[in-house]
Amino acid sequence: MTIARLAPGEAVTQFAVLDALLAGAYESGIAVSEVRALGDFGLGCCDRLGGEVVILDGEAFECTPDGLVSQMTSEEILPFAVCCRFPAGAAQSIADADLTALADRIDQDLVSRNLFHAVRVDGVFASVRVRVTPRQHHPLPPLPEVTREQIETVIPDARGTLIGFWTPSIYQGIAVAGLHLHFLADDRAGGGHVLDVSIRSAELRLVAYAGFDLRLPTDELFLRTELTHDDDHRIAAAEGGAAQRGAAAV
Ligand SMILES: [Zn+2]
Repeated sequence: MTIARLAPGEAVTQFAVLDALLAGAYESGIAVSEVRALGDFGLGCCDRLGGEVVILDGEAFECTPDGLVSQMTSEEILPFAVCCRFPAGAAQSIADADLTALADRIDQDLVSRNLFHAVRVDGVFASVRVRVTPRQHHPLPPLPEVTREQIETVIPDARGTLIGFWTPSIYQGIAVAGLHLHFLADDRAGGGHVLDVSIRSAELRLVAYAGFDLRLPTDELFLRTELTHDDDHRIAAAEGGAAQRGAAAV
């Protein structure tokens, strides 16, 4: 039974593009207050890539390399963010699933492979493997160099929420094609960018959006960086999204 539904008139809003982060152009960002005005659900990364961000039920949380999770203030900025309004609605149960099984279930339930989808999974997890990137300093290195020093943690026996998006493959480089998920534990004791997951039992909600609102930075570094969109992106997209590979995704 399919439960995915279209959110009429709503859009997924994204600030910045993946290619800019890959090029090291992530000097400015969108304020938390602005993100919260655009949506109550989403993900992003912290200033200078010093952590992973989750926007859940209208609140923004940062997951930092020291393992701590804290609520963000309105003034803090996100150099990359994706958000939307996530409507209340029916869920479907999912049990004993790893990331591949979850991705397959989502794949089967998409309203269309040509629309953006928000993905929310609330439940009990046997384990969630997350990564968090450390804060960078000038000159800002390209994202692939940053992810080489990422801190990976396995969160065992957690109750929490997966928050993320499924993006059509043709947007790879602008966005992260395929599935891109972050995790936040209910007790706020852990979270980050999801590399792997083992679901015990959970509820999956999937919402499709026919709108994509892209906002670009206007700082000097972004303005003078020549962005490329090379063939690698199509390969990564064909593999199902760079996010799960953990290599070069926000
Ligand atoms: Zn991420």
